[in-house]
Amino acid sequence: MENLPYGVFRKRGRADAPRVGVAIGDHVLDIGRCGQNGLFEGTADFAASACQAPSLNFLMSLGAPHWHALRARITELLSESCPDLQEQRDGLVAAALIPMEEAEMFLPCEIGDYTDFYASIHHATRVGKLFRPANPLLPNYRQLPIAYHGRASSIVVSGAPIRRPKGQTRADSFGPTESLDYEIEVGAFIGTGNALGEAVGIDEASTHLFGFCLLNDWSARDIQKWESQPLGPFLGKSFATSISPWVVTTEALAPYRTTAVPHDPAPLPYLFSEGDQQNGAIDITLEVWLNQELMSCGNFREMYWTFAQMLTHHTSNGCNLRVGDLIASGTASGAAEESRGCLLEINSGRFLKDGDEVILRGYCERDGLSRIGFGECRGTVVG
Ligand code: CA
Repeated sequence: MENLPYGVFRKRGRADAPRVGVAIGDHVLDIGRCGQNGLFEGTADFAASACQAPSLNFLMSLGAPHWHALRARITELLSESCPDLQEQRDGLVAAALIPMEEAEMFLPCEIGDYTDFYASIHHATRVGKLFRPANPLLPNYRQLPIAYHGRASSIVVSGAPIRRPKGQTRADSFGPTESLDYEIEVGAFIGTGNALGEAVGIDEASTHLFGFCLLNDWSARDIQKWESQPLGPFLGKSFATSISPWVVTTEALAPYRTTAVPHDPAPLPYLFSEGDQQNGAIDITLEVWLNQELMSCGNFREMYWTFAQMLTHHTSNGCNLRVGDLIASGTASGAAEESRGCLLEINSGRFLKDGDEVILRGYCERDGLSRIGFGECRGTVVG
């Protein structure tokens, strides 16, 4: 009830168009159908009608007041204490509930552009040490959130098989990668965009974010290492990126906001606000599982750059972000050794074999109880 994440689903075995649903326990609530059954009014009804679409883009584009109205009404409908909850309404809600195991999940929205950041200073330092032991962190790292432009066309939903990519790994070699890796990240979906030429201020940045997912930035390290000098990742990353199907909203995560990592030196003024410093990080426990083995456990609150800083910096040159764009955090590693979020960082020589399954999990806890689950982001490597 606290979570109410959005996803795009279809009843398994059906041929009809997918539509937007909300996960409630082990069920999916068909929001469009609730709307057709007359369970919403006014702003919430308008937002519910956008949920008959096969992607979240229509709902996202309506903006925060509509997101809030729809969420408030869904909460009311599902609440036992709803004062006007009639037997008839109860029946209408029940008629729009589908057991989760009968739901086939799709990508939650049409993703236009995808940008992957590098916001964990712990990840950047450990990886930097492998190549520059004496000078792991480059001088710009503490000044700006570094990113590369990723590939939206190869983003797949959790469960899609990951085909081992082929590529050039040395001057005389082309073949299947021998160092396939995962990276655990958090992705953020742009709800409302910004006009070309108009930067978004740091204190407005979060209002543009509709919600969050788990993201696995599959990486072929041998291809990446050979190709990325001097321009950065290309084919070593663009063969696949997996995301979890459920989008946890900005509103649902509000109680899990926490103090951001202090910066030394202080960032330039356009990247800093007292509000973002106090509230810009998000307390999400993140886990990577490889074939039932827990590979890492960390917390997203340790990221050096906040999503507000990433979005602000992204638009600071006037670049426009659009509804459905995805920005990812970069490998979410923490200071502790057990929170290293990719195999490159663990540095044991181990990489992914055909048949290996990687599962990312994320959740927010309060009073020792898990309150907000991100679900899973799964992928199995195939040769
Ligand atoms: Ca990455």
